[in-house]
Amino acid sequence: MPHTERFSLTSFDEFGLAEPITRALADEKYLTPTPIQAQTIPTVLSGRDVVGIAQTGTGKTAAFALPILHHVNVKRKRPERKACRVLVLSPTRELSGQIGDSFRTYGRHIRPLAVALAIGGVPINRQVRSLAHGVEVLVATPGRLLDLVQQRALRLDQVEILVLDEADRMLDMGFIHDIRKVVAMLPKQRQTLFFSATMPQEIAQLAGQMLNDPAKVSVAPQSTTVEKVDQRVILTERASKPALLAEMLKTETIDRVLVFTRTKHGADKVVRALEKAGLRAEAIHGNKSQNQRERVLADFRAGRVRTLIATDIAARGIDVDGISHVVNYDLPNIPESYVHRIGRTARAGATGVAISFCDHEEAPFLRDIERLIRMPIPSTDKRTGPRPAQRPASNGGDHHRNTRNGRGNHQQAQRGNQANRGNHRGSRPQAGHQPSHPAATQASPRAARPERPTEQKPGELGGVTFLQRPVEPRRNAATRAPR
Ligand code: AMP
Repeated sequence: MPHTERFSLTSFDEFGLAEPITRALADEKYLTPTPIQAQTIPTVLSGRDVVGIAQTGTGKTAAFALPILHHVNVKRKRPERKACRVLVLSPTRELSGQIGDSFRTYGRHIRPLAVALAIGGVPINRQVRSLAHGVEVLVATPGRLLDLVQQRALRLDQVEILVLDEADRMLDMGFIHDIRKVVAMLPKQRQTLFFSATMPQEIAQLAGQMLNDPAKVSVAPQSTTVEKVDQRVILTERASKPALLAEMLKTETIDRVLVFTRTKHGADKVVRALEKAGLRAEAIHGNKSQNQRERVLADFRAGRVRTLIATDIAARGIDVDGISHVVNYDLPNIPESYVHRIGRTARAGATGVAISFCDHEEAPFLRDIERLIRMPIPSTDKRTGPRPAQRPASNGGDHHRNTRNGRGNHQQAQRGNQANRGNHRGSRPQAGHQPSHPAATQASPRAARPERPTEQKPGELGGVTFLQRPVEPRRNAATRAPR
């Protein structure tokens, strides 16, 4: 059985990380390790295998990237041709790109450091070239990784550290056989770090086979906060949302309501629509001047403005008690944002209400949210137009199982589709996927990206610290710092 390790470190200095890494952390203005970092970093530095239960947004990437970079920096060794010293397996191109960017960011003062990506959807030749001289860190999706091995562009017998990230999503996407194949090619003598948001039996079994006496690290599931909020979904058409919001503001007993839109433009449109309906509202977003923002916030705090419309980024700085309602006028395409948003209500032991408007293009987002919070959200159907059959009563657990079985049978198709697959959060439902919402089958979700955050403010949600990841422009091939 894995051991559970507890550490309570409050500063990065206490880990004894190499100077180039602490300098990069200072550049990034990271002051305090998140709970998953406090638990994981010393354990990885000690050389032990780790099995971690943690979601994206908890600082998980730095939790493994920092001690790995320390290892690469301290145990200097020129990578052999076509080999990598560290292999990170991740389920999607999107996530792989983000992980690669994190390694480059935290390793920017380590020289030499070559970080390469091996992901589908981009020409393989550039990846072959970038691996020719060997790299310190390779971040890969399993399909492309195996293709590179098959083409003899990559050998895996020099891997010192293996990271398997988002293992449960790997399983969902039918990558389990590929992972087993990859692991069989790795040296037995290695350190393995295994992360998953959930630990169903199949994942625990896989971990048991891959890890050697692992330390167990985890951050508590965030459902404690989520459960305190009375959550509802209203299924509606996009065009009906303004009237629906106006009606709700007139009929519900609301002290203070924060309405989230996906874009700044959307926020202004909602304000205008409410004004037409005779309701006062103010918007707060990045296009407003600092003075305007402060005035609006002061009015909201003082109760002079009851309805505040905000984008995710603008809402970061808002710390207002007594928000009785959160309305998701648009559903976020990143499920963690939903948890952030609804955490604005039900503060300090109070209860709160979160109402989400879901049009048919947003159905896949709703499915992802329900999966993350592991509970179905009760819904009311206010759609007026023609629509598919009744929304099935969804059950987080069953849904998860259906999804896995459905996807597992389509492994080859999945691999072929990898080129088209972005982050599943914003992507079209996969073939064979059982949607939690009937409209999901015909949805074409807007691939809207969150605005670029201007600051890094962690939010505490039920004991879990979620941090927003800035959206960086992504490079696909390896970037090599000068040797
Ligand atoms: P992750 O869970 O790895 O997706 O990280 C989420 C975001 O948190 C990323 O944008 C990181 O840059 C940021 N982050 C990670 N660790 C810290 C920290 N200790 N302090 C501030 N921000 C952090």
